[in-house]
Amino acid sequence: MKIVLNGIHANLRFASAHIIPNHPSCGYIHGHSYFVDVEIIGNQSGKFNFVVDFKDVKGSARKICDKLDHRVLIPIFNHYIEFKDVDNDNLSLNSFKNKKYIEFKIKGKEYKLPKVDCVLLPLKHSSAEELSKLFTDKIANDLISKDYDIYSVSVGVNEGIGQGAFFKKVIED
Ligand SMILES: [Zn+2]
Repeated sequence: MKIVLNGIHANLRFASAHIIPNHPSCGYIHGHSYFVDVEIIGNQSGKFNFVVDFKDVKGSARKICDKLDHRVLIPIFNHYIEFKDVDNDNLSLNSFKNKKYIEFKIKGKEYKLPKVDCVLLPLKHSSAEELSKLFTDKIANDLISKDYDIYSVSVGVNEGIGQGAFFKKVIED
């Protein structure tokens, strides 16, 4: 059985800014009105004979949307981004723990953003592809912890209508 949540209609949306460093047109700060589609394949189980409770899926997806909404997405493992005053060879989210500003250079362009305006992501790119993997992992982990009998979780992150990346994760027993 397949469960589908359509991000436009289920209000799984966020609006964020990002940069794809060194890309000819996407290398400039720009924004998208994203929406997130979720598909779950599994067997009906439990007291209500659900595959999953829609509320659990929406809650999990919305938590991530809310975290990214109205922020600049910064992929800390991008090779073109050189952060100021941190060890760029040993980066982790912890590297920025005591920072008020996120300062970095991309090929000679310098940026300084208040940390509260940013979401630091443990990714190489803030592309739809990488974001879909991030959503899939987090939603899958949330649902696995609830003991559903699910086979796979797929998440599509759309950068507007008609353009999105879908990632599917098969849940191992
Ligand atoms: Zn973009």
